[in-house]
Amino acid sequence: MPIPAAPKPGTPVLLGIPFDANSSWLRGAAGAPPIIRVALRSDSSNSWTETGVDLGAEGAYCDAGDLKFTFQEPFAAIENKVGELLDKGLRPVCLGGDHSITLAIVRAFGKRVPGLTILHFDAHPDLYDELEGNRHSHACPFARIMEEGAAKRLIQIGIRTMNGHQREQAKKFGVEVIEMRHLPALDRMKVDGPIYISFDMDVLDPAHVPGISHREPGGMTVREAIAHIHAITGRIAGADIVEFNPAQDHTQITAMVAAKLLKEILGKMIGS
Ligand code: MN
Ligand code: MN
Repeated sequence: MPIPAAPKPGTPVLLGIPFDANSSWLRGAAGAPPIIRVALRSDSSNSWTETGVDLGAEGAYCDAGDLKFTFQEPFAAIENKVGELLDKGLRPVCLGGDHSITLAIVRAFGKRVPGLTILHFDAHPDLYDELEGNRHSHACPFARIMEEGAAKRLIQIGIRTMNGHQREQAKKFGVEVIEMRHLPALDRMKVDGPIYISFDMDVLDPAHVPGISHREPGGMTVREAIAHIHAITGRIAGADIVEFNPAQDHTQITAMVAAKLLKEILGKMIGS
């Protein structure tokens, strides 16, 4: 479903961002976007979400394909492309890529969508001031987003790797952290829009999603993640699904989980 000439305002649009150069541990996430699309269209399931939305319906969502990196600095290329889609009145849903891309994506949102609340699903707070000398590491995007004021509010959910430095950073930026050990937190998903969902696949337990770069045990089940997505109120302005690493996904189960979450997020967007 390419972008129609005159899309209905607010139509969700997929954008693949095949970029993993800011990964601190394993590469591979750049290969995710086409694999998520194949899983999304797999005949092993149907096109309906659990909430009753048919994603196979004409114009339900569209697809801008994968971003091609050429001469532009990668973060500028990402921000420009996402901004272009927003300026068309579409709601971008980006398929990563490592989590560093969220900074560039949210920069585009921040300039156009005031008062954004980010719902950030992750095992990790990604609030490091820098990691191994890289201020754009996938461990840092939310520090930069809060410093730049690109979002009004940051709510993190599923966190289970807080260290002293990141606790200080969370406090400094006023981040609302819902740690994994305190779940469920369905009521905390009731946010007045606009909302941006940033979904790092490693928020899930590695037993469910082996195809990730950082396997942090003690995470969410797929059902817990879906329940928290379904509990979101308010208008969802955009989303990303990041850190799926196909090189680690020997049974292709993680691809199906990513596609399932994508379906439920798209369903919530269409209904909001
Ligand atoms: Mn992350
Ligand atoms: Mn993570």
